[in-house]
Amino acid sequence: MPTPPDPRKKPTSVKIHVSNGAGVDVTWADGHASHYEFAYLRDECPCATCNDAREKKAFIGEMGSALKSSPALPMFKPKPRAQAATQVGNYAIQISFTDGHSTGIYSYDHLRNICPCAECAKAFRTVAH
Ligand SMILES: [Zn+2]
Ligand SMILES: [Zn+2]
Repeated sequence: MPTPPDPRKKPTSVKIHVSNGAGVDVTWADGHASHYEFAYLRDECPCATCNDAREKKAFIGEMGSALKSSPALPMFKPKPRAQAATQVGNYAIQISFTDGHSTGIYSYDHLRNICPCAECAKAFRTVAH
């Protein structure tokens, strides 16, 4: 996957704060700066397994409200943090989380799409949070 030519998806600086758990800071070629919590990135993990889980969760959520059944209590999970992070080529970062999950590869393209700020939500995501 080549680096996207869109300057909004091209990072000029990537800082991954693994040791203090502060998250990931990315500055983009268009001057925008994004900050991501590791727990947020874990939730937005783009791997097939997590995509599947998210779809199922959304489906169960719909069913639950339709049937008005009491939702199953989610298992207690501590907030995941990063254990290690590596750059993958010049297009992505890979994060190993403390919950043992490490298959998620976050392309910069994807990272800009999921930037948690309101501006990017408007520019890249149609579904409002
Ligand atoms: Zn995943
Ligand atoms: Zn943003």
